[in-house]
Amino acid sequence: MKVLISADMEGTCGVVSWVQVIPPDVGGAGRATSTVEYERARMRMTKEVNAAIEGAFAAGADEVIVNESHDGMRNLIPEELHPGITYHDGTDPEPRVVGSVRFITGSDKEFSMMQGIQEPDIAAVFFTGYHARAGTPAAPLAHSFTGWVQDIRVDGVSMGEYGLNALVAGHYGVPVALVTGDDKAVAQTRELLGDAVVGVEVKEGYSTTAAIHLHPNRAQDLIREGAKRAVTNLASMKPYTLPHGATVEVELDHQSKVDAALRIPGVERTAWRTCSFQPADAAELMTVFRAILTAAGTQR
Ligand SMILES: [Zn+2]
Repeated sequence: MKVLISADMEGTCGVVSWVQVIPPDVGGAGRATSTVEYERARMRMTKEVNAAIEGAFAAGADEVIVNESHDGMRNLIPEELHPGITYHDGTDPEPRVVGSVRFITGSDKEFSMMQGIQEPDIAAVFFTGYHARAGTPAAPLAHSFTGWVQDIRVDGVSMGEYGLNALVAGHYGVPVALVTGDDKAVAQTRELLGDAVVGVEVKEGYSTTAAIHLHPNRAQDLIREGAKRAVTNLASMKPYTLPHGATVEVELDHQSKVDAALRIPGVERTAWRTCSFQPADAAELMTVFRAILTAAGTQR
């Protein structure tokens, strides 16, 4: 059985500041970075992903694909990633791979945080290191894809990255089985997708930049257990699918960004700072949404 992990970083245990999650080389003007803090956070991010991989293997998965899903998409430390499991019974000339691990890095991927979902036979998706949607109070580093998307609504239902990514998984008939991150990220994901989704809270947010955390080792233990439970209970989880004819609204922080988005066929202005479109399916939803981000990103 094959599992796809969409690995974000803001929801990692111990993370409460952009300084910890902005790769120094993509920091840029006005964005403080710290190589020391970033290196520590990416190590913890990698360990949390490893815990999810271990849990999946413990419950019978034999293949895991990790899709790096955070800024720049080169944050996981490849050498530290779970190497997979081999078994040698003495009769085969070579050990057999009974648990394989591959990983996807780099940005500009068709499905972005959900790249890999188009691989055949993915049975479950895990969200690790996830954060709450834009505007959420008491949620560390809450945002939706960029700092300037104010809200995303599908048929009026507000959702963050967890929602659009779940719709893309649903397009391929795959349920989200596990979400790890802060308490609000877990609550929002389960509220949208259902209580069958296993949630692991690694910290409780006090504000946008403060939280009380579990010890990282404890967080990783809970992620391992949660991942195992998620695969074991997979039959109770349903793919989250886009209703036919659904309307997607994207609220931005400035009218000029909507002006730019209107150059995309099918995108209309529905309020001063809001545009909308009606995708044929969730794959098109993600394509048009990413085009809106690209067009709007050219504006101030
Ligand atoms: Zn991120």
